[in-house]
Amino acid sequence: MRSPRRYTMWRGRWLRSRGVADAVKTWSRRLAGRLAPGRCLYCGAVLDAPGAGESLCHRCAPFFAPRPGGFCPGCGQLLEDEAAPLHLCRSCRDAPQPWEQLAFFGVYQGPLREVILEYKLQGRLGHTALLAACLSRCYRLHFAGGGWDTLVPVPLHRTRLRRRGFNQSCEPLKGWGAQEGLELVVRGLERVRPTPSQTGLHKTEREHNMRDAFAVFGEISWHERNVLLVDDVFTTGATLSACARRLCEAGVARLGVLTMARAE
Ligand SMILES: [Zn+2]
Ligand SMILES: [Zn+2]
Repeated sequence: MRSPRRYTMWRGRWLRSRGVADAVKTWSRRLAGRLAPGRCLYCGAVLDAPGAGESLCHRCAPFFAPRPGGFCPGCGQLLEDEAAPLHLCRSCRDAPQPWEQLAFFGVYQGPLREVILEYKLQGRLGHTALLAACLSRCYRLHFAGGGWDTLVPVPLHRTRLRRRGFNQSCEPLKGWGAQEGLELVVRGLERVRPTPSQTGLHKTEREHNMRDAFAVFGEISWHERNVLLVDDVFTTGATLSACARRLCEAGVARLGVLTMARAE
């Protein structure tokens, strides 16, 4: 029978080798994505018309169509008709949000939810291009031509960033933002206090959890900037409100919010 010490050593070696295997798998998928631009970003199927600007096959495209409307541009509250014009809800009219406009790519469900969770929790970096395409399409649909000039991702605390290895709100901004004339300020905000997971917390508990969690990077002049704050999922808005307050205090000219998904 294995001694406990030998078992622990064996298990450690096995976990490390699994980590290496996962990393190799991830990098080969990324490489495959670069070498095969004519493949669907979700399922990898060969596209019918490669090079025609498509990034999803006809089977996957319906699951990754941007929501055209049917939500409140303050808090993201969903209306039944997803094609309805954007309309500020009563509570956002009574107590305006700290941003002038919010938009998200889709509702946090089905394949979009699956992709975000795999990306964030399992480190499936092969999903970066798909999430970047989602954010860029959402930007073009709701913000393009609106005078926005800066992208700021919601930051992770350095401990979590070290553990995860990447910021899920930042990586999908690289590339397309510059093409749209948007400057990506990766360290515009800093998470100065680690915060416990928000899962299962109510709105007021989340707000309390987020108090004083963020600081604005001081060496940038924010006064002339029209900033789009970017996060992966909008749930109660507590994290985005805390970030928005800091950016408003720093004097940004205008503030908008762009997220991959809106929780139901
Ligand atoms: Zn596909
Ligand atoms: Zn609202």
